[in-house]
Amino acid sequence: MIRFEHVSKRYADGTMAVDDLSFEVAAGELVTLVGPSGCGKTTTMKMVNRLIEPTSGQIFLDGEDISEIDPVQLRRRIGYVIQQVGLFPHKTVLENTATVPHLLGWKKGDGKQRAAELLDLVGLDPSLYGDRYPEQLSGGQRQRVGVARALAADPPVLLMDEPFGAVDPVVREHLQTEFLRLQQEVNKTVLFVTHDIEEAVRLGDRIAVYGQGRIEQYDAPAAVLGAP
Ligand code: ADP
Ligand code: ADP
Repeated sequence: MIRFEHVSKRYADGTMAVDDLSFEVAAGELVTLVGPSGCGKTTTMKMVNRLIEPTSGQIFLDGEDISEIDPVQLRRRIGYVIQQVGLFPHKTVLENTATVPHLLGWKKGDGKQRAAELLDLVGLDPSLYGDRYPEQLSGGQRQRVGVARALAADPPVLLMDEPFGAVDPVVREHLQTEFLRLQQEVNKTVLFVTHDIEEAVRLGDRIAVYGQGRIEQYDAPAAVLGAP
């Protein structure tokens, strides 16, 4: 589904953020990228939706070289959730979820219905929260809206960059549980960045353990935990 072939990224200032990365993510697989700050996780993710272009190497999505896919088209196939999702403050939760229904091919009028279904899916009751504004939500609830919005176009791929990193531990655990349940239902191909090994182990079908700019181990959670 997603394949990295000898991908490197050197930033303009000379920083080698990612160094000759080759790995593959199967369809429907949830891969967690774990490692300390600055080891290249976010750079890896941003190359998948072409927010950043690699210096060398190739990335394939379903066998297609992504450098040949128009970035706007590409991003319709890839949902993106970051640590602090940016919601429009003057739009309601429902409106934020269905930001661009016409772009998503939704018929006029069914945007609200679809948005409500998506909110249900992420565990946010649309009848309670749909008409609220972002400032009336908790941090965890805002992240749920971010996940719902990322799912709006029904993309096969989800990129999640520390999506639960900014909420307190109790809420984080709850969001993790909900996300695992959601993933059972939607079965996306997911790249999930975290610096929390417990989160990586709990969520990942496979774990990519990063060192500086490289993946040092790529294996199932049990094997990663069993490593000396
Ligand atoms: P992580 O997500 O693991 O924290 P990043 O991918 O954000 O790591 O960063 C990897 C390395 O690249 C770090 O050394 C970081 O400082 C550097 N870096 C990230 N973005 C830029 C940039 N725009 N310009 C220069 N260096 C950058
Ligand atoms: P907006 O709806 O204004 O794009 P977002 O919070 O959704 O606000 O996006 C924040 C930033 O992330 C923007 O620069 C946007 O272009 C980018 N972005 C949003 N969705 C994606 C995506 N699926 N892939 C790549 N970049 C995205």
